[in-house]
Amino acid sequence: MALTDALSAAQQYEPQLFHDLLELLRIPSVSTVLAAQSEVQRAADWVCAYLQEIGLEHVQTLETNRNPIVYADWLHAPGQPTVLCYGHYDVQPADPLELWRTPPFEPTIDGGNVYARGAADDKGQFIIHLAAIRAILQADGRLPVNVKFLIEGEEEIGSPSLDAVLDTYHDIFQADACLISDSHMLAPDCPVIITSVRGLVAVHVEVTGPGRDLHSGTFGGAVHNPLQALCTILARLHDADGRVAVPHFYDRVRPLTEHDRAALAQIPFTRAAWLAEAGNPPDDWGEPEYTISERTSSRPTLEINGLAGGFAGDGLKTVLPSRAIAKISCRLVADQDTEEIRSLLSATIHALAPPTVRVEIKPIQSGPGATVNLDHPAIQIASAAYAAVYGVAPLFVREGGSIPIVALLQNKFNMPSLLMGFGLPDDGLHSPNEKMSLAQIRRGVATIVHFFYGMAR
Ligand SMILES: [Zn+2]
Repeated sequence: MALTDALSAAQQYEPQLFHDLLELLRIPSVSTVLAAQSEVQRAADWVCAYLQEIGLEHVQTLETNRNPIVYADWLHAPGQPTVLCYGHYDVQPADPLELWRTPPFEPTIDGGNVYARGAADDKGQFIIHLAAIRAILQADGRLPVNVKFLIEGEEEIGSPSLDAVLDTYHDIFQADACLISDSHMLAPDCPVIITSVRGLVAVHVEVTGPGRDLHSGTFGGAVHNPLQALCTILARLHDADGRVAVPHFYDRVRPLTEHDRAALAQIPFTRAAWLAEAGNPPDDWGEPEYTISERTSSRPTLEINGLAGGFAGDGLKTVLPSRAIAKISCRLVADQDTEEIRSLLSATIHALAPPTVRVEIKPIQSGPGATVNLDHPAIQIASAAYAAVYGVAPLFVREGGSIPIVALLQNKFNMPSLLMGFGLPDDGLHSPNEKMSLAQIRRGVATIVHFFYGMAR
């Protein structure tokens, strides 16, 4: 039978798949660094060639202001649903390089894992879709459903081009459901379907005072130090318990129902393991009236992502810096509006700023959060696919991170997203020594093969 044949084709093809993945992982396609743009382009070309090779059609790149979107399709299953497969070929920067045990762009296989930047986020995951399709086409000569691919190169910078591209090419991206593998399971035997993603809004804050760095002995105590003024502002963005202190920040946040809280409490969680995963901070922190699981999935947050100014090298320079900057981002939950939160945050920072310094705030990126409709029939098919391979039904979990396309597809196409991730919690996304388990790729390919056949029924 076709399904069984496809599963054994996937097995046979596995050594080649791992080889191909290493090739892709060697391309340092860091989207946030403009100087790396030729590498980002090289990754797009690699993906195009690969899609062509496995038998997809209409393979092309759609130009954007920055990094191209790769499109491909296979549309020879009339009367069957169409699945849009989403992934991203760009990666986060690899620094700090000295914390990597092996070089980030020289993928290394060790202990059943491949270590490289992008191993789990997202090269080692979207390639699972390609491998499943390759196996089915090899075994069966045709696919049970229609498929389209949208593989972008700007996810790690907030997908700035996606909105416009989905409008321009509205017809070609029509589909019944979107398949996304860019998230993780709770454990190797505990698969997960993500039911919501948080939104993101970020700003760059610059505080300036004197026109040049000053001698702290000559001017200190009489000219307001911009770095100190910035720290004073930042210190007031949370209250003592860790609640965000931006007025009206929580106004639109839907309160967690008893049912929500009970569902979250069912997800296996051990505080000690969580602290270890977080790199052993002395204690947890944040809104005391919510559990850690609630804080990291269902509550909005505000983080200071970076702070710079003055002299922080070896030794001492007794300087009163002329300027200081901070990068601040907020994770938002459903119903919070990105523009509204950005203006509340800006207004709060301006209100906290003393008249002795100048404050300028620039938007960096934003994208809304989204909630997946669990009643959609494709959710049941995705669940059954996991159960067939992992032997257990997946749990439904809220994701703390942000995947901009989920809200865009929901708002523009009313298209549900199936967030079927195969990563593991300790994969180290955005961190040194990012990895992906090869066993998870193997089981991921089998799960997606099951999913495609399930969608056809
Ligand atoms: Zn990702």
